[in-house]
Amino acid sequence: MRSVDVVIVGASLSAAAAAKRLVDAGLETVVLERKALPRHKICSGILSPRGHRFLIENFGPLPREVLHDPTWCRGVTFHFPSMVSMSMDFFGGTTPHLHRRYSDYWAIQRSGAEVHDETSFTGLEDNGGHVVVSARKDGEEIRYRARQVIGADGPSSLVIRAIYPDYPKQIPWFFVGQKFHNIIECPLDHEYFHFWFHPDLGHYTWSHARDGQQIVGVGFKRGDNFDARHRNVVSYLEEKHGVKLDPHTTHEGCAENFGPSLVNRYVFGKGNVLITGQAAGFLNIIGEGMSCALHSGAISGEAIVEARLRNRPVQEMYRRMIASEVRRTTDQWNPLKIAFDRPHEADFPAALMRLSWRERRLVVRDLWRFVLLYKEFKWGREIVRAAASRLLGDGYPMTRWI
Ligand SMILES: Cc1cc2nc3c(=O)[nH]c(=O)nc-3n(C[C@H](O)[C@H](O)[C@H](O)COP(=O)(O)OP(=O)(O)OC[C@H]3O[C@@H](n4cnc5c(N)ncnc54)[C@H](O)[C@@H]3O)c2cc1C
Repeated sequence: MRSVDVVIVGASLSAAAAAKRLVDAGLETVVLERKALPRHKICSGILSPRGHRFLIENFGPLPREVLHDPTWCRGVTFHFPSMVSMSMDFFGGTTPHLHRRYSDYWAIQRSGAEVHDETSFTGLEDNGGHVVVSARKDGEEIRYRARQVIGADGPSSLVIRAIYPDYPKQIPWFFVGQKFHNIIECPLDHEYFHFWFHPDLGHYTWSHARDGQQIVGVGFKRGDNFDARHRNVVSYLEEKHGVKLDPHTTHEGCAENFGPSLVNRYVFGKGNVLITGQAAGFLNIIGEGMSCALHSGAISGEAIVEARLRNRPVQEMYRRMIASEVRRTTDQWNPLKIAFDRPHEADFPAALMRLSWRERRLVVRDLWRFVLLYKEFKWGREIVRAAASRLLGDGYPMTRWI
């Protein structure tokens, strides 16, 4: 059995950030990735300015091959049923449009960790002093012995299931699917990521340009019909925005744990097992998860280093250190913060001020109708209550992490 300081499960951005901290501190770190690398990851690849800074500061300038075309994004455009549209530019200029297959591979290589791909985590046993990790490669079981394990394995985390078998039943699940179309005509500005707050279109609706095609994506609850939802959005885009697309050439989809960060139900692990990135619940109101994956990942690595230096329990260190990231992600759900503090590093207040009073009223009304759509989810009432209390500005009413 191979003995190492830390095993990280998943070779994504949170893993790369955690690995960077651990390797820099001299800890022997092995990353397990179930897919062959470089691996595909469904994602729009729109990076926030904070995520961009993290990548540059930690891994250096981004090479061209880690980017899609267009290679950058100017900001986000919100569209409302009242046909008001608001374009918000990112602070500090454009940000890279990441090609996740290559950007994640680049980051994990630059972390300096040893990476074992095509190696699926299957289970663990925490014996107090160390953790025995089981994995499967080429049909054979392999085992690792580690002082700590970091679960950076994304929304459907098996590491979480290993320590909290019931967790997946306790949270709302959300499905997202996107289809890729050749473009006949598309008046949507390709320099922006477009997002619709429209109850008739679905829970999460987006479109953007990539590599000469237009992506049309929809989010929906379990049991809904992806094709029907998608068709509805394509007709809406044609009718209301003049977007003409050929039938799709490819499509893809996955399940998402959308919502834990809105109601502060993160899961950070127990004993010698830390959970980070989207597995822990980090994801903001527009489904942007790379920046908080990078930062929470780095904090999980730092927590292990600090716990060793101070001889303190690693969970105590992690929960103390992760509080800043929890607050930041919570702020990204808070309409008051969005209106005045700019937690997304995009100028929502300036975009709002460009609207007439009538349009501003319509935007607030449309946003509220959109939030009500989430009532039908597990935690629906809690989600609506959390949104309402944030709208009223009464801070962080529920911090109930596991
Ligand atoms: C359609 C869509 C569009 C998105 N667009 C954006 C966007 O534009 N901007 C943005 O910031 N965020 C976006 N996100 C969210 C973002 O992709 C995620 O929040 C982010 O990738 C989370 O990173 P992570 O490091 O936590 O884990 P992930 O990126 O989910 O990676 C987890 C890794 O773990 C591996 N893994 C899983 N199980 C095992 C196992 N048993 N053994 C070994 N390895 C395993 C996976 O193969 C994967 O490599 C989008 C998500 C979706 C679905």
